[in-house]
Amino acid sequence: MASEFDLIRRFFTRPAPNAVLGVGDDAALVQVSPGRLLAVSSDMLVAGRHFLPDADPYLLGHKTLAVNLSDLAAMGAMPRWATLALALPESDETWLEAFSRGFFELADRFGVALVGGDTTRGPLNLCVTIIGETDVRPLRRDAAQAGDEIWVSGDLGGAALGLAHLQGEIELNEHDAAACLSRLHQPEPRVVLGLKLAELPRVAAIDISDGLLADLGHILDRSGVGAEVELACVPAHPALASLPPDAALARRCLLAGGDDYELCFATPLRDAASVLAAGAAAGVTLSRIGRITGPTGLRVLDRNGVQLLIKERGFDHFAG
Ligand code: ADP
Ligand code: MG
Repeated sequence: MASEFDLIRRFFTRPAPNAVLGVGDDAALVQVSPGRLLAVSSDMLVAGRHFLPDADPYLLGHKTLAVNLSDLAAMGAMPRWATLALALPESDETWLEAFSRGFFELADRFGVALVGGDTTRGPLNLCVTIIGETDVRPLRRDAAQAGDEIWVSGDLGGAALGLAHLQGEIELNEHDAAACLSRLHQPEPRVVLGLKLAELPRVAAIDISDGLLADLGHILDRSGVGAEVELACVPAHPALASLPPDAALARRCLLAGGDDYELCFATPLRDAASVLAAGAAAGVTLSRIGRITGPTGLRVLDRNGVQLLIKERGFDHFAG
């Protein structure tokens, strides 16, 4: 049976041209570009909590890195290095081959080098720390001001609808199921959009991992402001269109569905043209969904401007 060191060498040791020293010593050494800040973030995926133990390892490799890249996207940071801490129940080489392939395909697309990690036996658990570089003025949650417009990239609700399908809450047709499961298992981190937005004068941003209302709520809390969201303006995944829009499931997926990894951000009205240019440059559609208000609180309005009563806020690991 392969030793821990064989596994590391075979599956996780690749050239890391952007590091001074990569895998193989007691620590990696990296050189930070002059005048730049490091952006550092960790995200852990736990079997039985974030994915089923028999989940496709190739897709898991992608998602483990994608959720971390998404955090850097929300900071407007350029991803550069990652470490990977793995607990594995057994040294299953077929599993590791597929997992590392999914991981490195995405890493290569964004120029991220895996420079270290840890490998141990234990219940399946995947933790990446991603390190990127930003300008001295990155995107932050605390930068929103009253009057700003609120934007969302791409469309929302697809991943949550895919999960509802997997859990038997709804049965989607083959086409919709494939589209939604791909959103759930293979999210596309909006790294380029984040970098483009970081060129604007003032942007407050977050990535949507726990649901629109929950994550927008974090911007509001950190910025000490409120918001109005127009339900009809929130871009829905096309598969949600086949459900009645006022169905509880459709609304839950759209407003409180996690795992979409789109960006939600607030910018001054006068920067709308630059925002649209950033979206075009990144190849992502952007929708204006509402505005930041002075008084705190988050209100969702229907077409007639009437406030809707919304119960779902999003996913919280320790709530309920
Ligand atoms: P130490 O015992 O000194 O912490 P390890 O024996 O755990 O070192 O790891 C040896 C080398 O392999 C280190 O450079 C470590 O960063 C790297 N490494 C271990 N596991 C992984 C992994 N899953 N992915 C990438 N690098 C890893
Ligand atoms: Mg170790």
